[in-house]
Amino acid sequence: MESSHEAVFDDLKTFIEILFENKDSIKALSTAFSFVADDLHIGRIMGEIPSSKSESEMAALAENRILYMSDLGFDPENSYRFSFKTITGADGAMIVSPVPNYTFTDLDKKYLDLLLQISDIHINRCVAYSEIEESSMIQVLTKLPNADGYMKRASHKLAMGSIDEFDSFYFDLSNFGLINKKFGSKEGNEIMVRYTEQLKKFFNNNEVLGHLGGDNFVCLVEKGERSKQLQKMLTEGIIVEGRQPDGSDVELNISAVAGFMHIVMPITRDRIIAGPAIALANAKTNKKKIVELTDEISDAAIRSKSIEQSFENALANNEFTVFYQPKVNSVTGEIIGCEALSRWYENDVLVKPMTYIPVLEKTGKINTLDLFMLETVCKDISEWKKTGRKAVPCSVNFSRRDLLDEKLPRKILDIINRYGVEKSEIVIEVTETASEEESANMINFLGRLSDFGIETSIDDFGTGYSSLSTLREYPINEIKIDRSFINKNLGSSDEIIIHSIIEMAKQLNISVITEGVEKIFQKDFLHKLGCDRLQGYLYDKPLPKEQFEKKLLVGKYNNVTDFEGDD
Ligand code: C2E
Ligand code: CA
Ligand code: CA
Repeated sequence: MESSHEAVFDDLKTFIEILFENKDSIKALSTAFSFVADDLHIGRIMGEIPSSKSESEMAALAENRILYMSDLGFDPENSYRFSFKTITGADGAMIVSPVPNYTFTDLDKKYLDLLLQISDIHINRCVAYSEIEESSMIQVLTKLPNADGYMKRASHKLAMGSIDEFDSFYFDLSNFGLINKKFGSKEGNEIMVRYTEQLKKFFNNNEVLGHLGGDNFVCLVEKGERSKQLQKMLTEGIIVEGRQPDGSDVELNISAVAGFMHIVMPITRDRIIAGPAIALANAKTNKKKIVELTDEISDAAIRSKSIEQSFENALANNEFTVFYQPKVNSVTGEIIGCEALSRWYENDVLVKPMTYIPVLEKTGKINTLDLFMLETVCKDISEWKKTGRKAVPCSVNFSRRDLLDEKLPRKILDIINRYGVEKSEIVIEVTETASEEESANMINFLGRLSDFGIETSIDDFGTGYSSLSTLREYPINEIKIDRSFINKNLGSSDEIIIHSIIEMAKQLNISVITEGVEKIFQKDFLHKLGCDRLQGYLYDKPLPKEQFEKKLLVGKYNNVTDFEGDD
């Protein structure tokens, strides 16, 4: 007997080490006990370990579990019971039974007590870890699972193979910024909590609702009728009380913008959230309340990701080129200028600007393209002049996104100077602004260019935020009337509008050009109203450099015919 207790003492070190190295694993107890069990004649150890809230190992151990079982079997009659309490206040116990035909001696019990007390500490440490982990998985305000907590639950369903029973949603609340503004952020938080309290009621135990933070939510809802109900509820809104600063209560209808997808196998973990997020982005871009992810939407998102990733390489590989579209004096037919438009030959396939410009604008890379275009245009103009050819002023497009860069006017000037191009040979074209805020940036940008003596033009005139005040407030040299003004059946009200724009511009010494002119009757109509500077398929589409050079050589259009086509 003595010798076997000495052995226990040796193995005690191993016992403690194993537990120490596995701070957050209750399973480690089984391994640890296997080192001492023989010497103490242990037949079986049964743990009654209280459950924890989390879905981690603790929860899996909620029921009684066997921590050790000897090959010799065990005798339940002579069991030794050790009770303990966890830090969360729950009761637990470990019941140790000897091998058959053995009764624990007092000395055995002393050793057992020591081992069980160490196990008690170990279990409590595991409980503490699991509590900490659990609290880090909860969104503080709404007590819903946060991103980690949600992913953990979703991953569990993925592992169990049940994830495809669900539709996956990603949604955020419409105008919650306004609510915060109106009610203050404290009451805003309260409103958010009331909203989620209502929302929670909808979900059953099988489904998962998560709060990523801010007003961003995700959820997994059973396919079919349940999903349809949620779609309706999110978009129609939930009525929530709001307390106004003056103490009076109002009813608010809080609705969401949502993206969702039917989950089909196989699916990756990331896709569970990324899929509906793509659909949500699509909903926002298209000003819809809810969008279901389709292959088409998904492909477009992949496409824009790939544009974003390949853009810089493509630029370095000379895949981008400049096409030139002539601007023409409609009375004389003379080419009086041109506009530079970008084209992307990706693996020799022509990609149209409408595919990549919005992506580059969104990702802030448009700046690089626009400066590249300016530089290429300056190179071309300087080459034309060096070889004794005629050059005409060329418009270069700059995106509104570019205006965030305060150094841009300076960069533009530097490029023009570097290639020895006259300032009068370049026109910087920007589209009308969409908001008051943008407008301030724009005035600043145009003012700087004007100070440098560089001409500017307002593109798509008539479609923006403040067309007429633009004429007065902006230091500009040209406006380009948008083709939407002339490509419909022209009626008398259009006539009045275009005419007054042209008249006003003339008085302010701003020149007027109209783009998108395809038909002779449009040319004649514009002539009658006093606009003889035209750009459009009536003369030419944007042309590759070599073709444009040939047109420049001729210098004018003598006979024109209507453009018949749908592009
Ligand atoms: P935009 O600046 O308004 O350019 C005029 C667009 O109208 C061009 O389309 C041109 O090909 C097209 N167009 C010209 N005349 C006619 C016509 O008679 N009928 C019709 N149906 N269309 C006509 P494109 O080249 O596809 O460019 C589309 C837009 O992409 C441009 O609109 C511009 O906003 C943007 N873009 C193109 N290149 C650049 C660039 O280098 N930088 C920036 N920031 N934007 C660019
Ligand atoms: Ca333009
Ligand atoms: Ca335009």
